[in-house]
Amino acid sequence: MIETIKKYCNSLTEYSRYKTREVKIGDVPLGGDNPIRIQSMTITDTMNTIATVEQTIRMVEAGCEYVRITAPSINEARNLENIKKELRSRGYAVPLIADIHFTPNAAELAARIVEKVRVNPGNYVDKKKFEQFEYTDQEYQEELERIRERFTPLVKVCKEYRTAMRIGTNHGSLSDRIMNRFGDTPLGMVESALEFVRICEELDFHSIVLSMKASNTQVMIQAYRLLIQKMEEERMNYPLHLGVTEAGGGEDGRIKSAVGIGTLLEDGIGDTIRVSLTEDPEYEAPVAISLANRYKSRQNHKPIKPITEIPIDPIIYTRRETLEVSGVGGTNVPVVVADFSEREITTQKDLADIGYKYNEETDKWFLADAAADTIYLGKQNITFNIPENLKLIIDHNVWEKLESKKLRFPLFDKNEYLKSKNFSDQLNFLKLHLNDLDEVLSNELKSDNKFVLVIKTDNEHGMAEQRRLFFDLISKEIKNPVIIKRDYQNLLLDELRLHSSTDFGALLTDGLGDGVWLTSETNDNTSKSVGKFTPVKESKEKFINRTLFGILQATRTRISKTEYIACPSCGRTLFDLQETTEMIRKRTEHLKGVKIAIMGCIVNGPGEMADADYGYVGSGVDKITLYRGKDIVKRGVTSSKAVDELIGLIREDGNWSESSENDFS
Ligand code: SF4
Repeated sequence: MIETIKKYCNSLTEYSRYKTREVKIGDVPLGGDNPIRIQSMTITDTMNTIATVEQTIRMVEAGCEYVRITAPSINEARNLENIKKELRSRGYAVPLIADIHFTPNAAELAARIVEKVRVNPGNYVDKKKFEQFEYTDQEYQEELERIRERFTPLVKVCKEYRTAMRIGTNHGSLSDRIMNRFGDTPLGMVESALEFVRICEELDFHSIVLSMKASNTQVMIQAYRLLIQKMEEERMNYPLHLGVTEAGGGEDGRIKSAVGIGTLLEDGIGDTIRVSLTEDPEYEAPVAISLANRYKSRQNHKPIKPITEIPIDPIIYTRRETLEVSGVGGTNVPVVVADFSEREITTQKDLADIGYKYNEETDKWFLADAAADTIYLGKQNITFNIPENLKLIIDHNVWEKLESKKLRFPLFDKNEYLKSKNFSDQLNFLKLHLNDLDEVLSNELKSDNKFVLVIKTDNEHGMAEQRRLFFDLISKEIKNPVIIKRDYQNLLLDELRLHSSTDFGALLTDGLGDGVWLTSETNDNTSKSVGKFTPVKESKEKFINRTLFGILQATRTRISKTEYIACPSCGRTLFDLQETTEMIRKRTEHLKGVKIAIMGCIVNGPGEMADADYGYVGSGVDKITLYRGKDIVKRGVTSSKAVDELIGLIREDGNWSESSENDFS
């Protein structure tokens, strides 16, 4: 039995869906034994009936089983009726969800029209004021009473009209009351929702769905896990809607979504998913479907030996303690291994795909921020001089015979390791599978501080098998750094991006892994999921290198580029979010580590910007408000000047740098 205190899913080794109660949403029930449902949200003006209907239809055709529509005021709530009628007259029975912020009267009207309403407990009744910083117990209780008073009528309407409700917490928009008591922590997010759930339960209303979204994947994952623990304590079992907010678009948005959503799906958590991208919503469903499809037959995976104890805290990020071996492990950021075992390297130019650019005239190398740290060459060698920071991994039997071993290190399998007497005195790599770790090998490794482990799996539930191996290493107190290796076959590049983001992301967000190494057998060299699906042709090595750095960025374990926190846009958006995000990206993408939020409206945008360093927020027609952190620094800037002003602000803070030859992709 797993310690109850840490239990957040059925099993960490045997795939099974975490069972929740079934909630009826129109004719498409959610939770219980139902499949993982796919949903998304329109970005049209809700007052534009035809545009909203047509976008909804495109979303349904793309695979959405529910469609959410924003209803910021009573007018939009009223127009949901026209939208619904038009959809039904065109033969579309898709359940509709009204997205509510702040306005109980819009919610109560919408709940009479659509199949589900979504409320954000951080702003259902109050605007966030950041005013009251201290709450006495009595003030806290009084505020809860006020919420009960304002929220009860909505619950009663939902009960009467059999309308479901999602209580959806957002990390970026917790109420002042919650912030005061719990901070912007996973516990604060969970409590924020449970306060509302308890009111529903007192009124005997149980058609509830819960979500805990955040832009920070670590926070999002921890919040869902904690929510399950708390629900179990309070004997609740409401279905879970998964999503990463403000994930951005293109590759980064897909990677971030797969890390957050995929990690939870791996443990059987989640009844419905929404991938939020800064793109037209019909592009979101295929990503969500690809994430969910992996689990259709996952329960048939090869057995993994069960565990009785979780040696890590699933709610608090702590990196596994490791030795440092020649720059790998310890406090170093995770390393990226590029696999060139199947591609011959003949000239310096071959390394451009993994971030190394050679200038023949000066005989100098320039490194991108996302330059791989290590190359696996298999049985080949490189004949030209390589940069001093680069390490080459070569199969042990070939390495042994090399005349010069400078910057070259051997890779062993278990048998070679146990038999060999010829090791590098700096750095060695050992391939390891869960079943390899017996008593003899464990004892050898404990006294061997020159080895980095390369863990691999061929199990369909591979993340769980690799996590099991990490747990063994922790409990046996083996502190060698670990490179996570995954090998994929027959995937399109778009699938490879999502699957690998899930598999690596699930381990990295739990502090497991000191490096990443990915191989793929595929003839596909066209990735489609960039921006608005512009196909990109490039080498497999280049694609994989960029994906691995993207995964490290999304898990916040290694920052190599600017981070964009862009809202997906909705009927409230005040400018073309996709175009503006692209414009800002083009001018700032070389600013490693700077976080820029691009938000469509001032109503919710500032609350949802999470921990961005700068905010670009729509505040009126052709008007932008600029933020430094959570503080407004410029109001009412016209759109034509706003990007320059934003850059000016970054310069003022000393965070600007000119892009140079070093910055290339
Ligand atoms: S922040 Fe963006 S997605 Fe959220 S309400 Fe405003 S415009 Fe809509």
